[in-house]
Amino acid sequence: LVMPLGQALNAYAQLQTGLGALQRIEEVLDLPSETAADRPARPTAVISEPAVVFENVTFGYPGGEPVLRDVSFSVPAGSRVALVGPSGAGKSTVLALIERFYEVTSGTIRVGGADVRDLPRDALRRTLGYVEQEAPVLAGTLRDNLLLTAPGTDSARLLAALDEVNLGALATRTPAGLDVQVGEGGVLLSGGERQRLAIARTLLADAPILLLDEPTSNLDARNEAALREAIAAASFQRTLIVVAHRLSTVVDSDRIVVVEAGRVVATGTHRELLDTSPLYRELAAHQLLVS
Ligand code: ATP
Repeated sequence: LVMPLGQALNAYAQLQTGLGALQRIEEVLDLPSETAADRPARPTAVISEPAVVFENVTFGYPGGEPVLRDVSFSVPAGSRVALVGPSGAGKSTVLALIERFYEVTSGTIRVGGADVRDLPRDALRRTLGYVEQEAPVLAGTLRDNLLLTAPGTDSARLLAALDEVNLGALATRTPAGLDVQVGEGGVLLSGGERQRLAIARTLLADAPILLLDEPTSNLDARNEAALREAIAAASFQRTLIVVAHRLSTVVDSDRIVVVEAGRVVATGTHRELLDTSPLYRELAAHQLLVS
C-alpha cells in the first residue's frame, strides 16, 4: 500500500506545482491587450513575477560541449534587457532556450514564474513574441504577412502596427495599399524593412514578452533610426529581451547582461558597466557590432 500511496502523493504534488505554474502564466496572459490609440494614458502593466528568470542554466547543443554555463539573470516584468557579448558567446542560444526550442541540461528557466517545462507549448507561444535576425517574410502581400500572427485583424489596426514600426509608407505609396506584393521571401523590401515587418507582426500578436535578435548587418542611418523607434514601440508596456548589436539599443535598456564564452560576466546599466566591465567598455568603444 505504501508505494501506490507514495506515488499518488507525488502525482498530487506535481499537479499542484503544475496548477500554480498555469495560474501564474494565466496572469501573464490576462494582461489587457493594448492598442496604439490607448497606450499613452495607461500605466505599465504589473506582473507580480519577474517575466523571465534564468537559474544556473547550463546547456549544450545535442552532442556538443556546453555553450552556456551556470547562467543566471532576471528580467523584471515591463523592463527592457539587452544581451551583449562577442560573437558566439551564446546570446541567441539564450533566446532559443526561453522559446524552449531546446531543453536545458541543468538549471531552470522561468517565464511568468513558471518553469517553462511545466507550460503547455501554446501558452508559451502566446506569451512570447520572437523576432529572429533574418525574420521570414512570405511571398504575398503586406496584409498576408501581418495576418499570419493575427488572423482577422482589420485594416486600420494593421496600418497602425505598420506606423508603429515606421513602415506606414509601404502601405500608402501604391494604390494597392496593404495588398501590395512584397515578393518571394520579401525581396521587394530591404533587410531593415523585413525585420520591422516581423516586429509589426509580433506587435499584432500582442504577446507580453518580446524576444528580439537584432540584425548584425549594417543599416543605413534612416533604417537604423527606424529600427530604434520600432524597438521602443515594441517595448512599450511589454517586457523586451533583445540580443543587441547596436549601442543605441543598449543605451536605452534598463539592464544589460554581458555574456562571454557562455557565462554572464557582468550585469548593470550602460553607465555602471562602463565603470565595472572592461569587456563592456571594449564592446561599447566598437559600437557593439561584433559579428
Ligand atoms: P552571434 O552574436 O554571432 O549571433 P551568439 O552570442 O548569439 O553569437 P550563439 O548563436 O548563441 O552565439 O552561439 C553560441 C555557440 O553555440 C556557438 O559556438 C555556436 O557555434 C553554437 N551553436 C549555435 N547554434 C547551434 C546549433 N543549432 N547547433 C550547434 N551549435 C550551435
